[in-house]
Amino acid sequence: MGNINFYSGESIPLEMHKPKIVQKLKLVPVQRRLEAIREAGFNTFLLKNSDVFIDMLTDSGVNAMSDKQQAAMMVADDSYAGSHTFTKLDDTCAEIFGTSYFLPTHQGRACENIISQVLVRPGTIVPTNYHFTTTLAHITLNGGKVVEPHIDEALNTSSKHPFKGNMDLDKLQALIDEHGADKIAFVRMEAGTNLIGGQPFSLENLADVKKICDRNSLLLVLDASLLADNLYFMKEREEQCKDLSIREITRKISDLSDIIYFSARKLGCARGGGICTSNEEVYLKMRELIPLYEGFLTYGGMSVREMEAIAVGLEETMDMDMINQGPQFIAYMVDELEKRGVPVVTPAGGLGCHINAMAFVDHIPQEEYPAGALAAAFFIASGARGMERGTISEQRDEHGNETLADLELLRLAVPRRVYTLSHLKYAIDRITWLYENRKLIGGLKFVEEPSTLRFFFGRLDALSDWPEQLAKKFEEDLGNL
Ligand SMILES: *Cc1c(COP(=O)(O)O)cnc(C)c1O
Repeated sequence: MGNINFYSGESIPLEMHKPKIVQKLKLVPVQRRLEAIREAGFNTFLLKNSDVFIDMLTDSGVNAMSDKQQAAMMVADDSYAGSHTFTKLDDTCAEIFGTSYFLPTHQGRACENIISQVLVRPGTIVPTNYHFTTTLAHITLNGGKVVEPHIDEALNTSSKHPFKGNMDLDKLQALIDEHGADKIAFVRMEAGTNLIGGQPFSLENLADVKKICDRNSLLLVLDASLLADNLYFMKEREEQCKDLSIREITRKISDLSDIIYFSARKLGCARGGGICTSNEEVYLKMRELIPLYEGFLTYGGMSVREMEAIAVGLEETMDMDMINQGPQFIAYMVDELEKRGVPVVTPAGGLGCHINAMAFVDHIPQEEYPAGALAAAFFIASGARGMERGTISEQRDEHGNETLADLELLRLAVPRRVYTLSHLKYAIDRITWLYENRKLIGGLKFVEEPSTLRFFFGRLDALSDWPEQLAKKFEEDLGNL
């Protein structure tokens, strides 16, 4: 895939795998979609799957497994301690990342809990290329503060910059000088930077960040949850990576990182997580917390079947044919939407296609949650669900004031190896219709607002009868489906 020439001159993303098991999908009529989004408090997290046609909420835990992963699950060694399955996963992590120690956790945020408890003290600062929702919550919970010395280009939604996930080195150094290195808990780099549109950092940037960390005796922590996408973009876009294998690039990244953690709901296409490090001192401190929060050291809250699948999935991630499917499908979607004038985040990143809600519904003020409103409207128009990544995904500050997000995005995740090109074409068609009727979309307000991670289960309401008006127009234009 990728370097195949087509006689037609078209550029068609071509899957290097085929489905062996399929799941039937159902598309419910637009009036039911309207009812369903009302029942869900205009929060796509609260929709029932029986109402969802194409699930573009997330890539977490919903990537398709390979036949080899399924086969490995059948031979899992189910024992509380000393499991052979653990040894396999432990060996795989050591082999791929070159690290000495592996700690299993039930998912990515559990790693963040453990790392934050060990390294974050009240009043300390964590500089990061960009925060992730659960990362921010855990660092804040431990009294730390997240600061983001990202490059200015990171927040430019229409850019050609190949590595918008890069850290701004001058800003990072200035931050360390301002607060003193002893006030910095650690420096965090997130691969495939999630909240700014799945944007990668470059190997060169990581190496420069590492130099700054070394000069100031700081630990460099890598969130490798979206590493697969970052690897693809390094190989595609960075000169020094062109002739390296994915395995070699991975090793270069891990050699620059003191602690690597990942959500195996993304990396490895299964469900779980883990922390890898060669730093014995930090490892021993983190290890104490695993039995307390996760489970015994040889499973850490994961099922052994999932651990088998992760070991195979990590190996499979070292293959360009596997990791290019997501980014190439996403690039197709982004290109097609751009051709139709729809404001999308460019360049296309990993994880999903990100629609710039601030521009799409520029008549909705940020206080009325444009990205949340667009997510609800897109569900009504398509039965496909995306995720709000904007102000609703932020939390209020210590005084209870709204924290307006830098970006208001509707994220349409493209889970790896799950949907076909025709599913994407359908989504593109519905977004195009929605764009032409965007003035019908109105704002939202909270009616039930949890204080942490409110986007998961908060409930909202429409500020007018815009959802009904939108559904009515849809029926006039396209019928009831
Ligand atoms: C998903 C994700 C996490 C959290 O992982 P979970 O398995 O969902 O807990 C952390 N960091 C990044 C970058 C992620 O994408």
